[in-house]
Amino acid sequence: MVSRIAPRSGTAFRLDKGQYLTVIDPEGEQVSDLLAYSAADTREYISSGRSIDYAGRMFLTTGDPLYSNRSNVMLSILADEVGRHDFTLTPCSRDTFRIIYGDEDPHHGCQGNLERALAPYGITPDEIPIAFNVFMNVDVDASSGKIEVRPPKSRAGDRLLLRAEMDLIVAMTACSAGQSNNFTYKPIDYQITDTLPDWAL
Ligand SMILES: [Zn+2]
Repeated sequence: MVSRIAPRSGTAFRLDKGQYLTVIDPEGEQVSDLLAYSAADTREYISSGRSIDYAGRMFLTTGDPLYSNRSNVMLSILADEVGRHDFTLTPCSRDTFRIIYGDEDPHHGCQGNLERALAPYGITPDEIPIAFNVFMNVDVDASSGKIEVRPPKSRAGDRLLLRAEMDLIVAMTACSAGQSNNFTYKPIDYQITDTLPDWAL
């Protein structure tokens, strides 16, 4: 069954070790901020720093593990139809929109949606790290380090396949930031399966 995350919203769910999570961009050019916590101890969470450090690259794709702050592999990327995701920027938030966009009445953003989705699991706002920003296209200038958010490279129906390497609480959004989805707020779809999906065989 494919589930849908409505535009500018979020969700959280349990993903057991060995289960597969397919993240789908149903309309193209949309971003999903993805977080993972160990179901056994939510003080263990997905770590951008460790994952990038151990991969030796900023842009992670097929074959790359996503590590926790305790250096355990939480998720593995098994297939990737887009090939560009970001793992450096924080979830968009009220403060993002206020500081970068100058909004006077800002939307609560992915940060707010993640907070709401994770509250039932006892995870507090201060425990939200940098998310794995699925389909987010961020260019980095090699010498100055200047970053630029560009429209995602994902086209309608493009997918990313992950496998849980431990029992997890996963949270995902359909991003609320105009800059990250070319100013069209769209949904994100996802599917949980116990076996490897046919398309990735
Ligand atoms: Zn966002």
